[in-house]
Amino acid sequence: MSHNDEHETDDAVSLQNDSGLGLSRRAFLQRTALAAGVTAMTATCLGPLSANMVPSEDGTVVGYKDTPKLPWAPEYHKHDPDRPWPTDITPGELCCPDKPGTAPPEDAIVLFDGEDTSRFEPNDWRVENGELVAYGGNIHTRDAFGDCQLHIEWQAPDPPRGGTTDRGNSGVFFMSRYEIQIFDSYTEKIYPDGIAGAVYGETPPMVHPIRPPGQWNIYDLVFTAPVFDGDDVVKPATVTLLFNGVLAQNHTTIHGPCAWREILPYSPHAPKEPLMLQEHGNPVRFRNIWIREI
Ligand code: MG
Repeated sequence: MSHNDEHETDDAVSLQNDSGLGLSRRAFLQRTALAAGVTAMTATCLGPLSANMVPSEDGTVVGYKDTPKLPWAPEYHKHDPDRPWPTDITPGELCCPDKPGTAPPEDAIVLFDGEDTSRFEPNDWRVENGELVAYGGNIHTRDAFGDCQLHIEWQAPDPPRGGTTDRGNSGVFFMSRYEIQIFDSYTEKIYPDGIAGAVYGETPPMVHPIRPPGQWNIYDLVFTAPVFDGDDVVKPATVTLLFNGVLAQNHTTIHGPCAWREILPYSPHAPKEPLMLQEHGNPVRFRNIWIREI
């Protein structure tokens, strides 16, 4: 079995077993796109089964070398395994591991409080122990958001679940398009623009302060929406990420909608669009999700 075949098998198995639906890849992608009410563009972030993954020169990471060079980082291919891995650092200890993050301030919109999932649709992720568990497809908010501050806590499955491309994979998709990656890059090395805290496929986090599977990670994000003039983007989106309290993205420009292996240009959309959470074949857990419109 070739290297590529191994990944294909991993991916297919995780879809069948972890989604719990036995969906074909195509059906899964279609459902994902339809559920989000967005184009198939977003679904491309999931990636098809076929893959030409290759190891990095030092053999520690896998990624792609047959993809386009990134205009904003021209020395690297998209998902380049030889892009420098951000420094792994240990975040500060949580004072309260079972209740790690900041409770919502007075003016926040609480998207998930441990019980109520009604702010999301489709409304079929599971709630267990006050936690929202990814299941069966992406979900998105009923409300639309533009510029915002988002607090979200997530935990990768323990024991780890999923192959190289699925390991604890989820994601925060601002405007259902622009992904800040959630991934168990504590236990699985993948191309740096696909690890936790990356603007997926674009920019790795500056540092990698991830906690192990089964422990809570905290994202505090500030997102500014792109501005369009007709078909042209006149101001790209940006994102700032505090990853477990550590600055990992600093007003980072987002160069276009999320895409796997390709570079997609901006395409005009409404000034506010739903926030989407990704389901990528394994049960990532979430708690304490709140948002403030800016
Ligand atoms: Mg993802």
